Amino acid sequence: MKYTPFNKPYLSGNETDYIKNAVLSGKISGDGIFTKKCHEFFEKKYGFKKVLLTTSCTDALEMAAILLDIKEGDEVIAPSYTFVSTVNAFVLRGAKIIFIDSGSDNPNMDVDKIETLISEKTKVILPVHYAGISCDMDKLMELAKKYNVFVVEDAAQAIDSFYKGKPLGSLGHLAAFSFHETKNIISGEGGMLVINDDQFANRAEIIREKGTNRSSFFRGEVDKYGWVDIGSSFLPSDIIAAFLYAQLENIDNIQSRRKEIWNIYNNKLESLKAKGVKLPYINKDATNNAHMFYLVCRNLTERTELINYLKEKNIYSVFHYLSLHKSPFYKDKHDGSTLINSDYYSDCLLRLPMYYELTNDQVETISSFILNFYK
Ligand SMILES: *Cc1c(COP(=O)(O)O)cnc(C)c1O
Repeated sequence: MKYTPFNKPYLSGNETDYIKNAVLSGKISGDGIFTKKCHEFFEKKYGFKKVLLTTSCTDALEMAAILLDIKEGDEVIAPSYTFVSTVNAFVLRGAKIIFIDSGSDNPNMDVDKIETLISEKTKVILPVHYAGISCDMDKLMELAKKYNVFVVEDAAQAIDSFYKGKPLGSLGHLAAFSFHETKNIISGEGGMLVINDDQFANRAEIIREKGTNRSSFFRGEVDKYGWVDIGSSFLPSDIIAAFLYAQLENIDNIQSRRKEIWNIYNNKLESLKAKGVKLPYINKDATNNAHMFYLVCRNLTERTELINYLKEKNIYSVFHYLSLHKSPFYKDKHDGSTLINSDYYSDCLLRLPMYYELTNDQVETISSFILNFYK
C-alpha cells in the first residue's frame, strides 16, 4: 500500500495568502487583525464569552494555573492518561497532582471516583475530553460546586464538539484548546484560553501580556501601561493567527470530511467488538468531533504485533499516553494507588491514521488489513 502516515497537516487553501496579508499589513506581533478575526470567530460560532489566542495549549494551561493562584501544596485532580502539559502547567506553580483513573469504557476520567479524592487542599479538577468526546460534565460540575473548586477543561482535542448541546470549552471556569498540527484545526503550534468566568477576564489579558495592562492601553482605557501583575509572553504572532483563520473559515468542511473517515472506520471495524477489541465509546450526552479513531486491543503483545503488521503494509498507527503516575518524573510523588484503566489504555490503545486527505480507499484498505490481522 502507498505510504500512509499517522497524521498529515492539511492546508485548506488561504493559509499562505493570509500570512502574506499579515506580513504586508506591517504588524506581525500579537493581537493584530487576524488574531482579532479568530477571537470574533470563536465568540460568534460557539458563544464563548471571552477567548485569547496563545502560542500553545500548554501556554493556555499555564495561564489558567496562574489565574487560579495555584500555590505550593494545592491539589489538582487530573487523569493519569493524558498529555504531560495537562498537569505540568500546575506542577510549575507548585501543585500536587492527585491522579484519577480512566473509566473502563473510555479513557476519560472516571467521574464517580472524584469525590473520594477531594480534600481540603483540592483547588482544581482538570477534565480532559479524550478524542474530543466529553467527560460527564454535569456530574463533574456539581461536585466542583459542592466542594467549591475550579474546573479547567483540557479541550485540546475537543474543538467543535458538544455536551448536551453545549460546546466543549464553555463548561468549566476556564478551558484550553490546541491548534498543534496533530489536531483537527491547526496553526503548526498554537492554542487558546477560553474564559467563561468573568472574574478572570481582565487578569487573563494582563498575564498574557507579560504582566502589563497593555491590552487596556490599546483600547484607550488607561493612558499609560505598566507592570501590574506576574505574567509571561503567551500571545502568538499575527502570522500564526493568519494561518489559523484560514483553517477556521473551512472548519465545517474539515469536520465533515473527518467524520466521513471516522464513520468508515467505525462501520468496517464494528465486527471486531465480538472478538473483545473495543472501538471508541461515545456516551449519549456527547458528540464525536472525529479527532481520533482508535482501537483498544486485548493486550500489549497484540497491539505491538498489530503496529508491526500495519507498518509492513506501509501504514503507520501509533499508541498514545503512558500513565503519568508511573512516569520517571512523578512516580515517587504519586500516592501509590493503582490506576488499572489508565494502564490498560497505555498498553492497549492504538490510534489509526486520521487526516483530511486520507481517501475512502485508503481507509477501507487499512480496515481490511486490520480485519485480516484478527482473522
Ligand atoms: C495536544 C494536547 C495538549 C498540548 O497542546 P499544545 O498545543 O501542543 O501545547 C495538551 N493536552 C492534550 C490532551 C492534548 O491532546
